[in-house]
Amino acid sequence: MEVQLFSEACILSADKKTLGDIMNIQEKSVVSILYKLTDDKGMVLDQSQEDPLSYIHGIGSLIPGLEKELLGKASGDKLQVSVAPEEGYGPHMPQLIQKLPRDTFQGVETIEVGMEFQASNENGETMIVRVEEVGDDEITINGNHPLAGMTLNFDVEVVEVREASDEELEHGHVHGPHGHHH
Ligand code: ZN
Repeated sequence: MEVQLFSEACILSADKKTLGDIMNIQEKSVVSILYKLTDDKGMVLDQSQEDPLSYIHGIGSLIPGLEKELLGKASGDKLQVSVAPEEGYGPHMPQLIQKLPRDTFQGVETIEVGMEFQASNENGETMIVRVEEVGDDEITINGNHPLAGMTLNFDVEVVEVREASDEELEHGHVHGPHGHHH
């Protein structure tokens, strides 16, 4: 199930700055990073590919524990950050794992482990749940983020810091080579 996060209607801006002083990461900076994420056993959970990850600092794009450490850093800086669950994807909550009768999934022909669905919680907030187990009568779903409850170890290299354009701030995401292509 795909979730549409951004509106389609936006215009690319050519906002590449030519010259400038070294810029330190601050609120609303556009930051590009290379990163590797490992768990406590050293297993790689995620990493940037060839292209760096670009994000707007301070609007909740990254987990709080990582943004906090990146603040004030500049292009070329390398850092290692260990993020506790409280500043990462939160604690693992057993109550977010539930068995639901198959009838709940009316209209869905095939249900497989790993499929994701949108669900609303008791506060009416939308959340993503993953199918963990498929039984004959019951489906087990898990609303925890896959990285919930884990200490996350990041190896990060800052590759670019620049100011965000007004349009990027309005859209809440980065445009250009490592960002959105509309
Ligand atoms: Zn946009």
